[in-house]
Amino acid sequence: MSTHETPTASERTDFIREIVADDLRAGRHDSVVTRFPPEPNGYLHIGHAKSICLNFGIASEFGGRCHLRFDDTNPVKEEQEYIDAIEADVRWLGFDWGEHLYFASDYFEQLYEWAVHLIREGKAYVDDLSAEEIRTYRGTLTEPGRESPWRDRCAEENLDLFARMRAGEFPNGSRVLRAKIDMASPNINFRDPVMYRILHTPHPRTGDAWCIYPSYDFAHGQSDAIEHITHSICTLEFQDHRPLYDWFIENLPVPSRPRQYEFARLNLTHTVLSKRVLLKLVAEGHVRGWDDPRMPTISALRRRGFPAEGIRDFAAMIGVARADSVVEVEMLQHAVRDVLNRTALRRFGVLNPLKVVITDYPEGASEEIEVVNNPEEPSAGTRRVPFSRELWIERDDFMEDPPKKFFRLAPGREVRLRAAYFITCDEVVKDETGEVVELRCSYDPETRGGSAPDGRRPKATLHWLSAPHAVPAEVRLYDHLFTSAEPGADGRDLFEDLDPASETVLTNAYVEPALAELPVGETVQFERLGYFCADTDSAPGAPVFNRTLTLKDTWAKLKAQGRHDSA
Ligand code: ATP
Ligand code: MG
Repeated sequence: MSTHETPTASERTDFIREIVADDLRAGRHDSVVTRFPPEPNGYLHIGHAKSICLNFGIASEFGGRCHLRFDDTNPVKEEQEYIDAIEADVRWLGFDWGEHLYFASDYFEQLYEWAVHLIREGKAYVDDLSAEEIRTYRGTLTEPGRESPWRDRCAEENLDLFARMRAGEFPNGSRVLRAKIDMASPNINFRDPVMYRILHTPHPRTGDAWCIYPSYDFAHGQSDAIEHITHSICTLEFQDHRPLYDWFIENLPVPSRPRQYEFARLNLTHTVLSKRVLLKLVAEGHVRGWDDPRMPTISALRRRGFPAEGIRDFAAMIGVARADSVVEVEMLQHAVRDVLNRTALRRFGVLNPLKVVITDYPEGASEEIEVVNNPEEPSAGTRRVPFSRELWIERDDFMEDPPKKFFRLAPGREVRLRAAYFITCDEVVKDETGEVVELRCSYDPETRGGSAPDGRRPKATLHWLSAPHAVPAEVRLYDHLFTSAEPGADGRDLFEDLDPASETVLTNAYVEPALAELPVGETVQFERLGYFCADTDSAPGAPVFNRTLTLKDTWAKLKAQGRHDSA
C-alpha cells in the first residue's frame, strides 16, 4: 500500500494545466504543443526532471505533443556528450518525443534572416562597444542606461557590417548586433539586448559554418514560434525576459505566437541544482563524475538505483506553483522508497561480516532454504538460498555484553535466522587483540523454515549467508553530498559544506549467490539494511553495489512536524 497519495493524472491539476485546459475549451488552440528546451552544456538534474514531467505530462494528458529541443546557441560550453546524455535521460525517465527532436542550431539561417529583417526596419544595429563598455552603458535597476554612440548607424551600414561579421572579418568581441529598443526601460532586458556575438568557435552541430551566434534571448522565443509551441513553459527567472520575447515575436514575421508561462524551479535541501556548480564538482574532482551516485543528476540517480517511476511520483507530489520554495530531499527519498518497497526483490547481503559456526550442523553438508522474494508482492515468488555449517552474520547483530534493549544475538541467547533455523550462541572466539572473530553456535533442527513446533519465538530475526557460498562484494554507502540543508547559505563557500564522509566504501561485504550477476541498474532490498543497486563498476562475479537508500523513511516524521513545503 502506498503511504502517500500520488494524484492520478486525471485529478492532478495546477495553474498551468488549468490554463491549458481553458485554452483548449475556449478554442484558442486545437491541440497543445509543449517542449523541453535544455542547453546542452551539462547533464540534466532532478530540477530538470520537474520540467520534463510537466511538459511531457501536459502533452500526454491533453492529447498533444512535446518536443525535445536543444537550445544550442553557445558552442563554447556545449558538447555532443551532453546532447547524448540528455536524450538518454529523458527517455529513461519514460518520455518520448517521437520524431520531434529539434535544435535551435537548425534555425540559425532563419534567425539570421530575421536579424536582417530587424536591421532593415531600423530595429537592430551593429555596436562596436566592448562587452565591458556595454555593461557599463547598460545602467542599473535604479539608473537608466546610456545610448551607444553606434546606435544610430544607418540600415545600410548595419547590413554591411552584419554581413561581414558573418563572413568572419572581425575578431571575437569586436562587435555585436543589438536590438534597438529602449535604453531607459525599467526592464533591463529591453535596454538594447545583444542578439548576435562573434565567436570563432566550431559548433557541435554546425561545425565551421558560423562564426556569429544568436544570443539565447534572440533564439529561444523564435524557436518556439517556428515549432508552433502553444505553451512555452519555463522557470521564473525568465519572467523578466518574457516582454523581450514578445517584442521579437511582434516585430518579426514568425509563423506562430507562443505564450510563455513561468513556474517555480525546484530547490531541494542538501542539494545544489545548478549546472555551473555541478560542472565544478566534476571538474575539481569532488565527485567521480556527472553520474557519481551522490550527484543530483538524472544519470547519478539512475546509477544509484532510483527508479524512474519514483522520480515521476515525486514530480507529481511536489506539484507546480508560482512561488519559490525548498522541498526536503527526504520527500524524494520517500517517493523512491514507496516504489522500491513494492517492486524490489528481497535479498541477503552482509556488510560487516562476523563468522558463525554451527557446531552441531554436519560438516561438509549444505541445504537450500526457500525464501520469499517480496512479501509485498506474492507473484514475485521465492528463491533458494544455500545454508551450511559456516555462516556470515552482521557484526552489529551480536553484542557480547548487550544492554537491556539489545535483543539480537548474545552469549547464551537464541535468535532466528530468517527462514532457516533458530540458533543459540554458545561460545565467543576472540583474536589476540580481543576482537570477536567467530561465534560458535548450536541450532535446533526442529525450527527449519523459521518456526518452532512448541511455538517459542525469539525476539530477533537475523539475515545470514552461507560462508562457502557467499559472493564477495564491494558496497558503497552514500550520504548527502552537502552536510548543510542549505549549501552555501549565510555567505559560506558552497564547497565548505561538502561532506568528505558522503561516501563510505566497504570492501569486505558478502551477498547471496543470486546477486553475483545482478544486472547493472537493478535495485534490490538487502533485508534489514536498505535498497542496493548493482553499479556500473561491477565485473562478472565481483559485484559492486550502491546503497540507494536505507529503509528508514524520515519524510513521514518531517511531514508530521509540518516542515515540508509541498505545493
Ligand atoms: P541550471 O540553472 O541548473 O544551470 P538551466 O536552467 O541553465 O539549469 P536549461 O538547460 O536551460 O538549464 O534548462 C532546461 C529547462 O529546465 C528550462 O526550461 C529550465 O527552466 C528548466 N529547469 C532548470 N532547472 C530547473 C529546476 N531546478 N526546476 C525546474 N525546472 C528547471
Ligand atoms: Mg538556462
